[in-house]
Amino acid sequence: MTIRFTDVNVIYHRKSPFEYHALKNINTTFENGKFYGLIGHTGSGKSTLIQTMNGLILPSSGTVETDGIILSKKSKQKLIHQAKMKVGMVFQFPEHQLFESTVLKDVMFGPMNMGIAEEAAREKACYYLKLLNVHESLLEKSPFELSGGQMRKVAIAGILAMEPNILILDEPTAGLDPLSHDETMQLFYDVYKKIGITVILITHDMNDVLEFTDEVKVMSQGELAGEGRTADILTDQNFMERYDLEVPHVIQLARDLKEKGIALNGTPKNTAEFIRLYED
Ligand code: ADP
Repeated sequence: MTIRFTDVNVIYHRKSPFEYHALKNINTTFENGKFYGLIGHTGSGKSTLIQTMNGLILPSSGTVETDGIILSKKSKQKLIHQAKMKVGMVFQFPEHQLFESTVLKDVMFGPMNMGIAEEAAREKACYYLKLLNVHESLLEKSPFELSGGQMRKVAIAGILAMEPNILILDEPTAGLDPLSHDETMQLFYDVYKKIGITVILITHDMNDVLEFTDEVKVMSQGELAGEGRTADILTDQNFMERYDLEVPHVIQLARDLKEKGIALNGTPKNTAEFIRLYED
């Protein structure tokens, strides 16, 4: 599904001494089935932007069209609710949201809450738990008996079981050790490949942006500073410097080599690809 922003402004606490213009004239589109990176410094407007997609925040002016549902300043609760159902959000430590007595019940909760009958909810739950490689023997266990990694998978299955059309990952690996970081990112990428859902990853980790995303949108002081193919944006030295963005280490390595007269044939996405391009 496509999400289209047309002339979107968000002004917090309008007409008060705390008035703040958090989104300024945003015009952009998130296309169906792509994996997007949404980057920019803290306070640049990333969270505000994603919260307008599911109606948590309504634009002060302009429209946000989420899969045919057009949200504006005047949208009513019913429409906002419809938009909410289309957008799944994963925050840091999603496993902290587990609460049911069994794994199966936890994953069934979302679909049942949307009005889906018990049997159909069970089917969806089993499908997404299997997709995430959660073994059948764990279905009747308490989620709190599982390892941290398994708990995270159960929590993500719970979000997918509601079958959102777009999955937003809001700094999903912040605070994780390097191994859990890699596992979690790989998990999201595998899910993306398997079900072809549109994904938006908000992160400060530019190596993840390079490795996993197709396209990137850059926010700066409430404006859309730039957008395009990930490799094009991240290798644009002037742009990256202007917005004080960290250059992924393999791009920096490729640049260092070039200075020594050894140019790589293409932009490496990660260390393994760097080595492959270097050896070619
Ligand atoms: P980011 O996600 O890029 O860190 P945010 O969208 O959270 O940026 O915030 C953008 C700006 O809007 C920040 O200056 C922030 O302080 C301000 N802001 C965010 N939420 C609110 C709010 N509920 N009320 C007032 N100002 C807010």
